[in-house]
Amino acid sequence: MPHGITEPDNRGHFGPYGGIYVPETLMAPLDELTREYHRAQRDPSFKRDLKHYLRQYAGRPTPLYFAERMSMEVGARVYFKREDLCHTGAHKINNCIGQILLARRMGKKRVIAETGAGQHGVATATVAAKFGMECVVYMGRVDMERQALNVFRMENLGAKVVPVTAGQETLKEAISEAMRDWVTNVRSTYYVLGSALGAHPYPLMVRDFQSVIGRETRKQILKQEGRLPTTIVACVGGGSNAIGIFYPFIKDEAVRLIGVEAGGLGIKKGQHAARFSGGRMGILQGTKTYVLQDADGQIGLTHSVSAGLDYAAVGPEHSLLRDLKRAEYTYVTDIQAMKGFDAACRWEGILPALESAHAVAYVIKESRRWKKKDLIVINMSGRGDKDVQQVAEWKSARSRKGGSRKK
Ligand SMILES: *Cc1c(COP(=O)(O)O)cnc(C)c1O
Repeated sequence: MPHGITEPDNRGHFGPYGGIYVPETLMAPLDELTREYHRAQRDPSFKRDLKHYLRQYAGRPTPLYFAERMSMEVGARVYFKREDLCHTGAHKINNCIGQILLARRMGKKRVIAETGAGQHGVATATVAAKFGMECVVYMGRVDMERQALNVFRMENLGAKVVPVTAGQETLKEAISEAMRDWVTNVRSTYYVLGSALGAHPYPLMVRDFQSVIGRETRKQILKQEGRLPTTIVACVGGGSNAIGIFYPFIKDEAVRLIGVEAGGLGIKKGQHAARFSGGRMGILQGTKTYVLQDADGQIGLTHSVSAGLDYAAVGPEHSLLRDLKRAEYTYVTDIQAMKGFDAACRWEGILPALESAHAVAYVIKESRRWKKKDLIVINMSGRGDKDVQQVAEWKSARSRKGGSRKK
């Protein structure tokens, strides 16, 4: 396709990254999935169904909203792409609808998924309910505690949520468990992967399903401003909301693409999840990409206040975009992200997901550098209702700390 420079080869290689690194039993199912995906893409009825459910069920197109007060505060024109207004509260549903339609074509009756913050689990449980499929979601035990509201939502939607108690008990372990289930039940089961990660064809497929964000943004900004943005900013966990908004702009070289990773407590070993500020090439969960790891290749521990960004690897297409210098990657810390969260609430009346708050925080942090003619689009990947507990705890912990320092 014309977006050219990052198109993968037929084994899913984005330059030196990507590929298929899985147990042998999964090679044939992944091949089958790739074939079916390409077939679906050429099938007008698949495209029609996808468009229909994105409109009628997910609520697309989402608005491109002019953030007037934030624009004044940072000295540039700032827009939010409102993925937080999608059904279930984040961009995840775009991908889930695409994959569930594929699962249905393939005659699967059972879907499984992994989830970190719970947003992908909720989106999968939602579409599974809608299409009458059995649904099992794997979730780290720690994440289940952090995101109790989303566990409740999934269970009410009829999904079974399985706690995963290995390792750090978060997203990485949940993915491993989901892959184990898939190996065992591959004939009956479709694995709905939640980000632009994993073995081919997932990074390609998830990017394509999420690119609706960038295609809409492009049309909307041309209509509303009569020109392309100068800068697009998105947070990067696995990288699906970022690649979704970046992809339709890759060939527009004047548009700066900026990915914001989780700087956590700072760039020290085990304290962050900024793969491009401390990671190096490695293989994790099916794909070759930038990975946080030690000298022996042991996967590093990660930390972020936002569960959705807390993962040791990044989608392989981002690794290539970074090497090609077509996209830039930076990070903001937990503290800065909390400031971004407050700013979006107070200035715009929008309570953002803590993930999205990282992108907002970056734009605030760089205020001095923006020029009046800069036209910035922030991908507001999700809403923050799921995070209120986290934010409340974080704020009370900090005020306790502040209090003891004063004594
Ligand atoms: C899951 C999630 C993310 C991180 O995932 P990506 O694949 O990097 O987009 C970001 N924001 C929200 C609201 C999420 O739910």
